Amino acid sequence: MSYRVGQGVDIHRFRAGRPLKLCGVELDGEVGLEGHSDADVALHAVTDAILGAVSAGDIGEHFPPTDARWKDADSTAFVLHALELVADQGFEIVNCDLTIVGERPRLAPHRDRLRAALAEILDVPMTNVSIKATTAEGMGWIGRGEGLLATAVVLLAARGAGGAQ
Ligand code: MG
Repeated sequence: MSYRVGQGVDIHRFRAGRPLKLCGVELDGEVGLEGHSDADVALHAVTDAILGAVSAGDIGEHFPPTDARWKDADSTAFVLHALELVADQGFEIVNCDLTIVGERPRLAPHRDRLRAALAEILDVPMTNVSIKATTAEGMGWIGRGEGLLATAVVLLAARGAGGAQ
């Protein structure tokens, strides 16, 4: 049985006046993130984890921030592109574990909504998607509330050999 693992990390700075999107879900009343696309730091980390698992470079190579096509783009498109590469190589997603690090917003009330949204994008059961959150306990740029960091790990299995179930 053939498996691949990938990890991704992304960081975005908060920017007032933009909506906050995480896992494709807009969180009402929260300060958004700066970025060329919709700045969905969670989906960017997941995209890089998937690309990493199939050794297909990184999100910046596939979707350059200099390309006007991706201005304010829905980052779901980045994940779906990475999933096409996964399918091309004969793999499928088994599970995804995502961690978001920041002082705000409090993610616990939104966790299951974000899990459901990410599970739908990845086309796996919600039980195969984990979202964790932590703070930096006031230390450094995260502690000062300057932005969010997300890190993701995904496991792929050869299709039909124990993928999502
Ligand atoms: Mg990013």
